[in-house]
Amino acid sequence: MESSVLYSGFRPVDRGLGANRAEEEKEQKVVENKKKGEKEITPLNVWAENPNFTEAVVWRADTVKLLPALEQVDLLLRIAKATQKLVNKEHKRRRLLYERTGMIDTGIKHAYWDQSYAGFKEVLGSKNFAEALRLVAESWRSFKELLELKERGELPAWLDPKPPKRLKRLIIAVMHDNYRLLEDEKAIRLRYSNVKISFQGELRWWRERMQQGRLVITYDEVKGAWYAHIASEVKLKREKREPVKCGIDLGQEQLVAAVAENGVGLLYRGSVLKSEYYYLKVQVSELDKAGRFADFDVEVWLEKRKWWFRRFRMRKQELIKNMAAHFAETLHALGVTDVYVGYPRNINHDKPTENNNAWPYWEIAKAIARAAENLGIAVYLMPEENTSKVCARHGCEVKRKPRGLVLCPYGHVMHADLNAAMNILKRGGGRVPERVKTLSFTPTPDGVIERGKKRESKAEPDSPAQRAG
Ligand SMILES: [Zn+2]
Repeated sequence: MESSVLYSGFRPVDRGLGANRAEEEKEQKVVENKKKGEKEITPLNVWAENPNFTEAVVWRADTVKLLPALEQVDLLLRIAKATQKLVNKEHKRRRLLYERTGMIDTGIKHAYWDQSYAGFKEVLGSKNFAEALRLVAESWRSFKELLELKERGELPAWLDPKPPKRLKRLIIAVMHDNYRLLEDEKAIRLRYSNVKISFQGELRWWRERMQQGRLVITYDEVKGAWYAHIASEVKLKREKREPVKCGIDLGQEQLVAAVAENGVGLLYRGSVLKSEYYYLKVQVSELDKAGRFADFDVEVWLEKRKWWFRRFRMRKQELIKNMAAHFAETLHALGVTDVYVGYPRNINHDKPTENNNAWPYWEIAKAIARAAENLGIAVYLMPEENTSKVCARHGCEVKRKPRGLVLCPYGHVMHADLNAAMNILKRGGGRVPERVKTLSFTPTPDGVIERGKKRESKAEPDSPAQRAG
């Protein structure tokens, strides 16, 4: 599921929990880092923002599948189309305003003055009308905040904020007090339309809620199903633990290569994601070939093309989500408290936008930060230049060898990605372990496969670091 609808995306500071102190600490840290010449360590979640806190209040969402009756589908469609239209009308107005004057409208008042919005209010009801406008306003506010951070030099150089785009999906926004969740009946009652829609799926965050938040209903064209995203404000807690750091290198052969101070290496292979990419390419090129025939319906062809891309995006998101959850749980079990993600700085194309087929480094980093946040682990982002060129143990230049290995002039061979991860660990102030025991996994859209457990004990290509040191 696309989370940008529910959260305003990259939120650097958690409000309401001594944000000022955290701000001061951060400024100090930035100054310190600049002194050392290694700038641009960016906190990616609430624990990285507030390293000393044991509690944090955040918004989370449960996603459940709606099971609307036939006549309810018509109703949902009508409301969703109106909402989509309203949202895009507002996005367009704000975008024009921004392009012409540089001003960013982060309020919702305009729609109340402008008579051309009156029809929407009737279809949606005044509360949900306002809620849809708030959704738009929030994405512009978050854009404004990112611009301000950029001006203050607090964003990584490659992160270039872009104004919000128009909404492609069908969506319904319901204000927090305009729906009721009937847990026993497994149904949601929409107050304005006065319908009760059944759902299927488990609620996790809603049970822990301090308060109920917005409900967003979306239509997933690939699955042909309606989903409800129920936001809840919850309190995350974590125990104070002995600090254990972990460095991560992001890549294509290995989506994630991680090494923790306590000597555990984790590899998440990129093979399935790669074949998903390949499959998409094949399907689209076959479609394009068929599209050359004169009697081929262009609209149908375009729709099908879009469908393949959407399907791919969805499978990619599921794969990343599965990996991030598995990775965060494994780190938690290993006692890791702080994670440093090396981000390839020269990749300018992989921004948090949709419709982007570049390798999803940024998506992976964000998914890890969020999954780790749930388990009390701080995640930081840092540049990874040269981390693959030098030996993490000796600091001298390494030679690239076949099969993803590197050779140090001191005579030991290492897994290239694990070596990079160890260099990132070092940059994050961590201690490079003497020996590394490696576990390898293959993330898929349906789950994470643990593979080659036997390799732990043998010094095979997947765990050459055992021979290192
Ligand atoms: Zn070496």
